[in-house]
Amino acid sequence: MPGPDGRPRILILGGTQEARRLAGILESGVAGLPPLDIVSSLAGRTRQAAALPGRVRIGGFGGADGLAAYLRGEAIDVLIDATHPFAARISANAASACAAAAVRRLALWRPEWRSGAGDRWIEAADAAQAAAMLPEYGARAFLATGRNDLAAFAGMPATWLLVRLVDPPDEPLPLDNHALVTGRGPFDLAGERALLAEHNIDVIVCKASGGPSGETKLTAARERGLPVLMIRRPPPPVGPLAGSIDEIVAALPALLDALPGGHDTPTS
Ligand code: NAP
Repeated sequence: MPGPDGRPRILILGGTQEARRLAGILESGVAGLPPLDIVSSLAGRTRQAAALPGRVRIGGFGGADGLAAYLRGEAIDVLIDATHPFAARISANAASACAAAAVRRLALWRPEWRSGAGDRWIEAADAAQAAAMLPEYGARAFLATGRNDLAAFAGMPATWLLVRLVDPPDEPLPLDNHALVTGRGPFDLAGERALLAEHNIDVIVCKASGGPSGETKLTAARERGLPVLMIRRPPPPVGPLAGSIDEIVAALPALLDALPGGHDTPTS
């Protein structure tokens, strides 16, 4: 059933560049779709979220039950899970909540990066395994894992760590010998080359996130012949997946038609 003003209401779980792009596309209007009421949801991890088109809500829902209550209370018609591939908890919560509240759901699952000639990628099962392997590959590491996984790299006084975060941390990082750079992707290739050279980096640690915005560091690593410890992704969310925002936009007419009453396709 459409929301109170008659527009189908879409909740986008975000925190990614793809989610921002999707909100922009849907806010601007898509041929063949009625006007939509778009709400983007962010966890609130960064101090200043990048500007988002349309309505935005910030903060956790309170687990799967809280999200189900939100879906019912806000009369959400379709949930698009466009969160990061490593944000497994919110994706699992979204699957349970949509099942409980009978809300249609489609999840973005970015294609994996593929290594090519000249790449030296070593897969790690998780951040703890990457930390255990790190000393074998060099004494100066660039940690591009984000904030959630830093604790795994505590207690390594013989390894110098360059940490990149979106915001400066509120508390000192739990790391021995480190330096901090701040920045929000996408990062251009020239900048990534300069960062690796300036800090004389021997090895990169990153997540197998996929997507174009993190790929430049891999190109810069290949050019310098550096090893990359690549932390494996969690499994994809259950249920239907789309590989790109374009696929999600293409799937929306069918998702909306499947709502009780469907939607009237504009004729002009
Ligand atoms: P997570 O472990 O899957 O989720 C932890 C909790 O944070 C969730 O249970 C939920 O709290 C809340 N949450 C997460 N995403 C939310 C959203 N979009 N809207 C409202 N609440 C949300 O997530 P995470 O790995 O910490 O990532 C947090 C956010 O950062 C996600 O939006 C993700 O897209 C983005 N991000 C993550 C990574 C990464 O490497 N993990 C990288 C780039 C961007 P409640 O249970 O209270 O609802």
